[in-house]
Amino acid sequence: MPETCLFCRIVRGEIPATVVASNDEAIAFRDIDPKAPVHVLVVPRSHLSSLNDATDSALVGRLVALGTEVARREGIADSGYRVVINTNAHGGQTVNHLHVHVLGGRSMHWPPG
Ligand code: AMP
Ligand code: ZN
Repeated sequence: MPETCLFCRIVRGEIPATVVASNDEAIAFRDIDPKAPVHVLVVPRSHLSSLNDATDSALVGRLVALGTEVARREGIADSGYRVVINTNAHGGQTVNHLHVHVLGGRSMHWPPG
């Protein structure tokens, strides 16, 4: 629900976040509990509960594109990084507002847990 949704509240500026990039439809901010030296979340300004609700595939593409821009700015584009969209319970999604994780600055493991 957008009124109480944590990421909607960050988008509205009601909860502080370290914003590293933004445009008219998305913001990117540092994860509060980083799982890698660089861990940024790219979040659409409008509330979508999960990837399952993202019927606008072009929007998803632009969120990923903003993630790649963040990766370049953070200096991890060449060394490499991981883009993750956890979706619903088995995907490990804990905040029910669509978000793209951008993780880098160390080697990632595969397969993920
Ligand atoms: P997920 O588990 O894929 O839903 O990712 C949610 C992410 O949001 C987790 O990595 C959390 O550490 C992060 N998170 C939770 N609260 C905040 C917050 N207030 N500011 C920034 N990141 C947050
Ligand atoms: Zn929301």
